[in-house]
Amino acid sequence: MIPFVNLIGQRNAYKPELEQAERAVFDSGCFIGGPAVSQLEANLAKFCGIGHAIACGSGTEALTVSLMALGIAPGDEVIVPDFTFVAPAECVAALGGIPKFADIDAETLQISPKSVESLVGPATRGIIAVDLFGQCAPYKELREIANRHGLWILEDSAQAFGASVAQSPHLEPRRACTFGDIAITSFYPSKPLGCYGDGGAIFTDDAELARKVRQIANHGSSEHYLHEIVGVNSRLDAIQAAVLNVKLTHFEEELCKRRENAAKYDAFFANVEGIQPQRIAKGNTSTYAQYTLLVDDRNAFIEKLKKAEIPYCIHYPMALHCQPCFGELSHAASATDNLNGANATATLNCASENATLNCATGNATLNCAEVASTKAISLPVCAFTDVDTIIEKLRNVL
Ligand SMILES: *Cc1c(COP(=O)(O)O)cnc(C)c1O
Repeated sequence: MIPFVNLIGQRNAYKPELEQAERAVFDSGCFIGGPAVSQLEANLAKFCGIGHAIACGSGTEALTVSLMALGIAPGDEVIVPDFTFVAPAECVAALGGIPKFADIDAETLQISPKSVESLVGPATRGIIAVDLFGQCAPYKELREIANRHGLWILEDSAQAFGASVAQSPHLEPRRACTFGDIAITSFYPSKPLGCYGDGGAIFTDDAELARKVRQIANHGSSEHYLHEIVGVNSRLDAIQAAVLNVKLTHFEEELCKRRENAAKYDAFFANVEGIQPQRIAKGNTSTYAQYTLLVDDRNAFIEKLKKAEIPYCIHYPMALHCQPCFGELSHAASATDNLNGANATATLNCASENATLNCATGNATLNCAEVASTKAISLPVCAFTDVDTIIEKLRNVL
């Protein structure tokens, strides 16, 4: 069976370099932080073109530490996308904040600035924008809204480290992780840049925010055993940094391969009815964390994939406001809708709070996030995936 992400193929390709770097860490006696981690932080900051990169324990911890550094307090509202991994909304809620779920664009699947604007209220403190599936969120519009209302932007680039957005013609494209007041990424093994366990990083150009992040991630301490504020423990292992330093030297090449693979799928699906690839917004390059399609009859498509033995993932089967853990949070106060989000079998009854945000292409009672949750399906696209073979298999079943 073809793996969804070919981590074994990748390890085999870089094995001598990886083994050398791994052995050096094991022999050094320095297992948490240290020179490998400092080197990684410098490499990450240089890669993105940003002042500060701070390694930490995971993408989720990076979100938590960032929110703490931004000063989130109980009752603060934070606008998050309705269609993404749970972590952004989860971290807001875990710190006592209230996630407000913004709808997405029906084609790019990125957070909708119009929906964000409609959710801004007196308790709104910031926006968490997710660079979904590997392309950057619409930061130009989001920044405009943030500036107008005095909000911060936290960029969740867990899936998009390495993505870029074209600037004016005489400027270099701008990298993901530089658009938020603070940004995060994840090194979970299956992410575009992954390690061999949990890992993450936080990015900012603001020296004071960077100092706070380091302090919070180190038990609220800048000086040994002096704890000025309540913090957490979020550190990166040296072994993970060593692996990432090796993988980073091959990363640009891998991104090219991912884009080549995605272009092959694009060409193939252009002639298949009822199937639309996620649209990549003009000027954006995607990391293709996965290659995501919107399929009108997803169940029938899944049967064909099974027959052809092609692996797939469903990112994400439910809009976040429909998740049982957020049912009460986001909808207890709403008397006018017939919401049933707490019931996992009733995904489709979880109607949009705001009728004007309904997805033009979908059922009138569903928002775009809900429509996407019924249509989205992802195929393997990593640099070590043989997409030609997958397309041959698809040709035989479609
Ligand atoms: C993977 C992911 C995270 C969490 O990262 P971990 O390292 O697994 O904690 C957060 N946000 C998004 C959008 C993700 O895809």
